[in-house]
Amino acid sequence: MGPRAASRLARLGLRTVQDLLFHLPLRYQDRTRITPIGALRPGDQAVIEGVIELTQIQYAKRRMLLSRVSDGSGLLTLRFFHFNAAQHAALARGARMRCFGEVRAGKSGLEMIHPEYRLINHDAISPVEERLTPIYPATEGVHQQTLRPLTQQALRLLQNYPESLHEWLPETLLHELQLPKLADALLCVHYPPPDVSTILLEKGEHPAQRRLAFEELLAHHLSLRELRGRVQRHPAPVLDASGKLMAALLSHLPFHLTPAQQRVIGEIRHDLARAVPMLRLVQGDVGCGKTLVAACAALHAIEAGWQVALMAPTELLAEQHLQNFTRWLAPLDIKVATLTGRLKKGARADITARIQSGEAALVIGTHALFQEGVLFHKLGLVIIDEQHRFGVHQRLALRSKGFNNGRYPHQLIMTATPIPRTLAMVAYADLDSSVIDQLPPGRMGIETSVISDTRRAQVVERVHQACRAGRQAYWVCTLIEESEMLQCQAAQDTAAQLAAALPDLRIALVHGRMKAREKDEIMRRFKQGEIDLLVATTVIEVGVDVPNASLMIIENAERLGLAQLHQLRGRVGRGTAQSHCALIYHAPLSRYATARLAALRDTRDGFEIARKDLELRGPGEVLGTRQAGMLQLHIADLARDQHLLPQIEHTAELLLNSYPAHVPPLIRRWLGEGAQYGEV
Ligand code: ADP
Ligand code: MG
Repeated sequence: MGPRAASRLARLGLRTVQDLLFHLPLRYQDRTRITPIGALRPGDQAVIEGVIELTQIQYAKRRMLLSRVSDGSGLLTLRFFHFNAAQHAALARGARMRCFGEVRAGKSGLEMIHPEYRLINHDAISPVEERLTPIYPATEGVHQQTLRPLTQQALRLLQNYPESLHEWLPETLLHELQLPKLADALLCVHYPPPDVSTILLEKGEHPAQRRLAFEELLAHHLSLRELRGRVQRHPAPVLDASGKLMAALLSHLPFHLTPAQQRVIGEIRHDLARAVPMLRLVQGDVGCGKTLVAACAALHAIEAGWQVALMAPTELLAEQHLQNFTRWLAPLDIKVATLTGRLKKGARADITARIQSGEAALVIGTHALFQEGVLFHKLGLVIIDEQHRFGVHQRLALRSKGFNNGRYPHQLIMTATPIPRTLAMVAYADLDSSVIDQLPPGRMGIETSVISDTRRAQVVERVHQACRAGRQAYWVCTLIEESEMLQCQAAQDTAAQLAAALPDLRIALVHGRMKAREKDEIMRRFKQGEIDLLVATTVIEVGVDVPNASLMIIENAERLGLAQLHQLRGRVGRGTAQSHCALIYHAPLSRYATARLAALRDTRDGFEIARKDLELRGPGEVLGTRQAGMLQLHIADLARDQHLLPQIEHTAELLLNSYPAHVPPLIRRWLGEGAQYGEV
């Protein structure tokens, strides 16, 4: 192949024969049957065979060649905008042709635009394609017609030199899982045998595709485990604590830990006492009390004489944590410092000095915590709250930033977006997982209703009544366009409208373009009960805790994903009052939007919702785009292939224990050198 063609292929990431083999078809075309013209429907992709009745050039807006073909069952027009004289001549009346294309309804009956065609001999029987035709991911200058023959060549090489492509999965395992060998699987997806089940292949459920998806998911799982292994080869400080600080905190609280909180705290304390860096994910539905679990973990580390860093995704949440932790830890005489991006230079210098001297035992902040110039005296534990906001890359980056003198601090990650176990296996395999599967007692339910915006006035009236009765409400305006400015504008308009309609309520507005100080001030007043109705953009989505708020109105709820709606709704139902959530939508609803809103109305279980979300919208939405970006899957589809995941862990163990040498090349095959992202 010449350098120009090679450089075009490189744009698709195709540099080697193996790359071609792993450049897998997106879908297939069925050219194995000839369809009678009379049976065609608009939208069909079909092969037809017939005799040309008439070919002529038409001069409409553009010059074009029209050819009428008949096969006795019907008539079809072929339309060409690009053609030459030879073509015109060849498509002569009486010639027999076979063509493949997409059928559409034209002005004068069915037609195909620029079909692929060839003329065939009248007498000889010309066989149709025996096999499904693969359609590859292509790009400018690299067409199907280029890719298909190249792939065929690569397949021939594979057949002639089968040992050049290593089979990393042991034969006994393949047998047990009833999966074909790698080479057979590749051959099958690129060059499906004539008797293949078209339905399975099109659904991506053919054993050959399952085999490839399985190996791909396995590679991702292994790569995260490898990463974990690399971190855990370094020592971590052994945090030895009797738990007396924690006991002191708990004795001041008006409630007891839930059994789930106790169990998770136990798991964390057990990890912290080991000389291996803890890598633990705590999942728990909104409102289950993760902050208190974090506080207990922090107290364990502090009692052992080490510092703790707590990172929140926004200033608002950092501020809220600061308030909680100060309230909890001040009576224990523990110094809490805060480090956010908006500190003035002098204040910042003062705080970094206190961090460096070790005087600040607990430091709460945003990303600013891990920016240059922040040195900890003795950092023993890093806690990351609402981790899904950060993304995998940041989680890995943070890990290496905490790396100090050959040691990693322990790491605790908390997420309110429950991650289905199966998804966790490929996206979080570097972490142990703890689940707080219980809400504190006494929580009332959240009654959720789905309401058309034609009944908005009634909702406004209900909010009015509720606020007059001393309750507090959120009114959330969702994204109108991909523009934060427009979103803020919409929230401003809504706030003004509501203020005009409900003059006796105290209404305030919080949105993403306000200064952090203004936002915090409003949130503080809302918390104090000085505001009845808070109109907001989705900035309040994560973590805000105002127990007296018991009403949540979400406008244009159909625009949001399940996870986000669940988070928003989780802002209420935190106190002891019965809470309500109204999901206002604008008709007509798409099928998915209907399913989303119904799912939310019918369940409050975050895990159930996450599972639904995975089903409805795919892993990108469940993990957040950043993280999905890391999970670049070529053939596996996490929703479709979930059932493969339970076998993945088992296979990973098998390889790590019995075939460790197979692991690195297997990871490289699917993740490329990108597998090194752990070293960021
Ligand atoms: P999340 O898990 O969503 O971060 P929070 O940590 O904000 O939840 O906790 C929600 C509320 O529940 C807070 O007001 C917190 O003080 C309270 N809380 C936490 N644990 C308990 C418990 N065991 N019993 C009663 N209330 C609790
Ligand atoms: Mg929280």
